[in-house]
Amino acid sequence: MRNIAGRNLIILLITGALAPTAQPQQPFDLVIAGGRVIDPESGLDEVRDIGISGDRIVKIGPGPFTGADTLDARGRIVAPGFIDIHRHAHGDISYRYAARDGVTSAFELEIGAPDVDAWYRMMGPARLINFGVAAGHIGARMQVLGDKSFLLPSGPGRGAASEAQIQEILAMIEKGLAAGAVAVGVGTAYTPGASPQELAAVVGLAARHGAFVHAHLGGGLRRLAAFLRTADQARAAVHVAHINSTAGGDIGEWLRALREARERGLDVTTELYPYTAGSTLIQSALYDGWESWPDERFASLQWAATGERLTRATFARYRAQGGSVISHANTEANLRVSMVDPLPIIASDGGRDMADQPTHPRATGTFARILGRYVRDEKLLTLHDALRRMTIEPARRLERRVPEMRHRGRLREGAFADITVFDPATVNDQSTYTNPAAYSTGITHVVVNGVPIVRGGVLDEKAELQGQQVPMGPRVPGRPIRAPRVSR
Ligand SMILES: [Zn+2]
Repeated sequence: MRNIAGRNLIILLITGALAPTAQPQQPFDLVIAGGRVIDPESGLDEVRDIGISGDRIVKIGPGPFTGADTLDARGRIVAPGFIDIHRHAHGDISYRYAARDGVTSAFELEIGAPDVDAWYRMMGPARLINFGVAAGHIGARMQVLGDKSFLLPSGPGRGAASEAQIQEILAMIEKGLAAGAVAVGVGTAYTPGASPQELAAVVGLAARHGAFVHAHLGGGLRRLAAFLRTADQARAAVHVAHINSTAGGDIGEWLRALREARERGLDVTTELYPYTAGSTLIQSALYDGWESWPDERFASLQWAATGERLTRATFARYRAQGGSVISHANTEANLRVSMVDPLPIIASDGGRDMADQPTHPRATGTFARILGRYVRDEKLLTLHDALRRMTIEPARRLERRVPEMRHRGRLREGAFADITVFDPATVNDQSTYTNPAAYSTGITHVVVNGVPIVRGGVLDEKAELQGQQVPMGPRVPGRPIRAPRVSR
């Protein structure tokens, strides 16, 4: 009996694998009709119809397909939904901006969460777009060292940890990995007191769990070299956050070092956001030692809440108060070096304030800005290259530990129907440093798990009308994405 049941189960599983949604008699639930379908994984670039049933792509082919619902994509590009692997803005308002920028999955990987289970509980079973989190070293060490600051350490979390405290930090990260964290986040720029031994222990732990380490390093090639050596020794997969801002004027050398590391077999990736200014919390360790800065340096900083440029006096006042600051520290020339290089993934690093409003235009315009300004207007990178770095590359970065990511970031039969349709002639960012709260334009339709959330360039009516609390239901299709959980 048991054997027969087992065999039936196997047959069921095999059938399921071959045809994820077994039935589909047409019409499909949803058809995306007549668009130029580009799939960076397979190289497909043809005018096609896409038939969707439930949450999956069932058929891609020459149309016309018929569906209960149809999105007209004629004259538009149909791409896999964009995957943002570096985003701090995870709220209902933030996700509307992300959706209007073409993002269908968003991950908090650099800071991550000190308590991964609690993060997923807080996010709940459904949001506008898919979401996931890393186990965060920064937050774990803040808890262990008793730093009560918001998000980033500005007290004892910056200092050194004892051997016993390091063990406690590691135990918290390991608990997060067992709870399905998709990666391990570290930010040595924010934790100057973390010793090389502490970092090596974190990297080793991640490697044992098949998790990659998403790292915000401090500047300087020596720090990159040390980090890559640590990764080599642990045979860990690692990811260097926002190389555009961290490398600054050394961008060419940083990219070369990453390429050499990849050639010797290290699984290392990186990312960029398409802006010359960064953003962080003014109270963070990044600005330790500000007292000895020359006066003119403060003017490179802009207070996010008001847009004003800072002086020594206003810097001191806001540092005591705490909040987001925009840092005009990079050049367009450096940024372009990172963009023409095929390696960096596109990721926003977008943040938000306490009211879930964006603090920097990268939170709202990153993806449309690449497609509009840098692909169409300036021809700095090709459309195919840009889409590859927004879809399949971030999916691959995650999929070793998170099997469902093998079915996202692609347009193929059987994949999840996460799809972004945009107008190549009009796609663009609209947000600026003084007004980051502007929706991108030219993103025509966005579909998450088979459900349209942007339709005809505007958020689906129900998504638009949502208040702070998202009502559960079929119109809120985004799901938690996590690694398989380990029971202990
Ligand atoms: Zn970040």
